[in-house]
Amino acid sequence: MYSASEPTAFLTRLAAIVGASHLITDPADLAPCLTDWRGRYTGRALAAARPGSAAEVQAIVRECLAAGVAMVPQGGNTGLVGGATPDVGGRALVIQLARMNRVRSIDRVNHALVVEAGCALAQIQSAAEAVGRLFPLSLAAEGSCQIGGNLATNAGGVQVLRYGTMRDLTLGLEAVLPNGELWSGLTALRKNNTGYDLRHLLIGAEGTLGIITAAALKLFPLPAETVTGWLGVASPAAAIDLLSKTRMGFDAQLTAFELICPLSLQLVRRHFPHLPPPPSAPWHVLCEFSGSGEDNLRHKAENFLTARLRDGAISDGILAQTNAQRKNLWALRENISEAQKKEGISIKHDIALPTSRVAEFLERVEPLLTARFPDIRHVAFGHLGDGNLHFNVSMQNSAANARLLAREHEVNEIVYDLVHTLEGSISAEHGIGQLKREFLTRYKTPAQLAAMRAIKHALDPAGLMNPGKIFEAF
Ligand code: FAD
Ligand code: ZN
Repeated sequence: MYSASEPTAFLTRLAAIVGASHLITDPADLAPCLTDWRGRYTGRALAAARPGSAAEVQAIVRECLAAGVAMVPQGGNTGLVGGATPDVGGRALVIQLARMNRVRSIDRVNHALVVEAGCALAQIQSAAEAVGRLFPLSLAAEGSCQIGGNLATNAGGVQVLRYGTMRDLTLGLEAVLPNGELWSGLTALRKNNTGYDLRHLLIGAEGTLGIITAAALKLFPLPAETVTGWLGVASPAAAIDLLSKTRMGFDAQLTAFELICPLSLQLVRRHFPHLPPPPSAPWHVLCEFSGSGEDNLRHKAENFLTARLRDGAISDGILAQTNAQRKNLWALRENISEAQKKEGISIKHDIALPTSRVAEFLERVEPLLTARFPDIRHVAFGHLGDGNLHFNVSMQNSAANARLLAREHEVNEIVYDLVHTLEGSISAEHGIGQLKREFLTRYKTPAQLAAMRAIKHALDPAGLMNPGKIFEAF
């Protein structure tokens, strides 16, 4: 540990590694990386370092280790659980990967590409598209989030139903471990059974086991045809039934199936009034089919939906006729988080349930919440195809909302206890970060927690790699 007079010397050594212009110490420049996207967490830090290579990341990690300085890896800072925000102690170093943003190689034959951790997700999608391939991870923050952050949170998004999560899309990784060593696993092999696979520990570790510097990722053929529909359904149970029928009819051609509650849509319409309104209905589904262009997908989708209109499974529906219409339909879905943010802070739950139990969750949670908080309102939407709901609660006026936030723990207990009873997960996508740390210990078994802690202690015995995230700092 450095003494009170030593931070300057420490920062001088960091500046020598990354170059003075890539070491941020000015409070005004530092401020944006000390607060999370939702404005729920604000920390302090000695500085933010912006390395330009894996070798520089290694040198920084070694300096931090020698000085006893905590490290907070940060990508696009779009995470929703405070994972990339330092604590308030002011003795941590934020390590931003944004300068490491090269697409190192694209291999069309292997359907793979190698990218550095600081590449924005949208940049990778475009690089793939330029060679007629698809990189299928897709989420509303794709313009700003980085692949390192996507890997560290095992991000999901709107096409998991067809292509899987970030974990499923990753062939290999390169990372700097908490001891400063480079772990090189940038293989593009599809099969490799040679002992423990550190890749799968680093994915979803939220920066607590090392800093990801590059990744080898899977590519897919770029679909030639995409058909996007907005459908009205009577209830979540009707949406689940429709999902099951649609999967049976379309199998891998069904690439997205999103559920949207009436209040979600109302908020988007309030804050994004330029978006054309969809057909009115009690609940909404946004679904997308993708194909190679030879299977007359549009015709098949039209026939299927006509039959569902006839048998009453859907009350109304439109298929986008142009790309602009498709984008508008997706904008109605993808602006839900942004619209909620404009309404003030809500208590967010990003939960996974067996798909068959999503409707039961919604039916049971409402009376439990309103019994304790009579005017509570909830927004429920998400990736129904994956059994993943974003279930966010708030009060309409700001004074009542402040009172609700003060009782967040009680709200969370109600929601998460029910999720646990229904054999679900308290985090489908966003991770644990600081936000759900205490709930992790409530629902994991002692054996699960002990194994996780043993891994953390083995790889990061000094506890300097993103401390206080997932677990308490030690
Ligand atoms: P950050 O926020 O910078 O960091 C997130 C975590 O990863 C932190 O713990 C950080 O320490 C760690 N980290 C970052 N980079 C590295 C690295 N190189 N090595 C090691 N650790 C690192 N998420 C979904 O899964 N699905 C969605 O559909 C989705 N939709 C979203 C919509 C909106 C509008 C917003 C704002 C967020 C959404 N998110 C979603 C959450 C967020 O975008 C994802 O979690 C994303 O993967 C975070 O990437 P990031 O680069 O911003 O990471
Ligand atoms: Zn999501």
